Amino acid sequence: MAQTKLKTDFLRYVCQTSSEPMGIEVDRAEGCWITDRSGKRYLDFISGIGVANLGHAHPVVVKAVADQAPRFLHVMVYGEFIQETQVRLAERLAQNVPRPLSVTYFTNSGTEANEGALKTAKKFTKRKKLVAFKNGFHGDSQGSLSVTGRDVYRKPFRPLLPDVTFLPFNEIKSLKAVDRRTAAVIVEPIQGEGGVNLPDDDFLSTLRRRCDETGALLIFDEVMTGMGRTGNLFAFEHWNVVPDILVLAKALGGGMPLGAFIGRPEIMKTLSENPPLSHVTTFGGHPVCCAAGLAALDYLIGNKLPERAERLGEYLTDRLYKLSEIGGVKDVRGKGLLIGFELETANLTKRFVRNCRYAGLVLGWTLHSDTVIRLAPPLIISEQEIEQGIDIMWKALSQELKK
Ligand code: PLP
Repeated sequence: MAQTKLKTDFLRYVCQTSSEPMGIEVDRAEGCWITDRSGKRYLDFISGIGVANLGHAHPVVVKAVADQAPRFLHVMVYGEFIQETQVRLAERLAQNVPRPLSVTYFTNSGTEANEGALKTAKKFTKRKKLVAFKNGFHGDSQGSLSVTGRDVYRKPFRPLLPDVTFLPFNEIKSLKAVDRRTAAVIVEPIQGEGGVNLPDDDFLSTLRRRCDETGALLIFDEVMTGMGRTGNLFAFEHWNVVPDILVLAKALGGGMPLGAFIGRPEIMKTLSENPPLSHVTTFGGHPVCCAAGLAALDYLIGNKLPERAERLGEYLTDRLYKLSEIGGVKDVRGKGLLIGFELETANLTKRFVRNCRYAGLVLGWTLHSDTVIRLAPPLIISEQEIEQGIDIMWKALSQELKK
């Protein structure tokens, strides 16, 4: 089929980040489905990379946006004016995170939220060293990239932040590197881009203890795992370990750009003094995004979507185990509706993902691993839609294995 003018213009005028963009020309998206401009429908098994937990364009989110937009859009830089949707979302988050976390700083994205969390930790502890984990991912701005555990992405941008120590994820003996010079340890409770790596049962609690012994702050980056995706509102609840700072984004805005970091009052207070205005943003906590985020959070909790994620995650995992029996599959692992589906080779993974897309199923592999496909469908997905996806995956995999 000839390339459309829109695609030609996309390739010409929109900065490209990959040599092979998926290139679906989006006409509309609703629930678990994306429709392209030719009318072809795609089942979305990655939710815009963990954003559309309520599905695309959920009516409660659309209504919240439509109600707020005509009242006011941006009025003043963050933190100066009182904007109701922002206050109510911060309040609702405080009601749903464990004490003593209660104060939220809103940003526009995950990487900005991590930047803010790292700066806050350095300012509060008056320390400089940061500890992070190999294969972790925290975003692409320079601070977040500095703590992202994959050299190939850091190398072209050096020098980055100094004094960052990377430890192997799940290796308890290496946690002694967290010391009294350490301002913060940043970790994803489940590594997403690293290939959906789950923590061992005692890893996060031992890390928590080590931070308490040394006075280092513990930052949980739940940008990918938060907002119900893993079967609890936040992934840390699975291991009963509470961080000093919780970082959220992606699904937080219900499809609108919104990030946040949440901490105890005395930690968060450091941003307003010595000097005041030491961390500011123009658009962070935009009133329309906060309206969308509040509607999404209320819907998520009111309709028990975390529980649904747990139940349907088990269902999908079972179906993937069954699918594995035909061969080519190395592992199936995950929590709730964040599942890593690992194939035997990178080449097979690439062809499998491409075949699925041609057949109308959107999948994507993870940034740090070219054999792990991350499945993260909307939490509202039905069993029937899961079956449709599995059917496409089954055909795509058998087609490759026959070659
Ligand atoms: N942290 C984690 C765990 C992520 O998965 C991501 C994005 O994939 C980020 C941070 C960065 O978020 P954003 O792309 O909104 O800057």
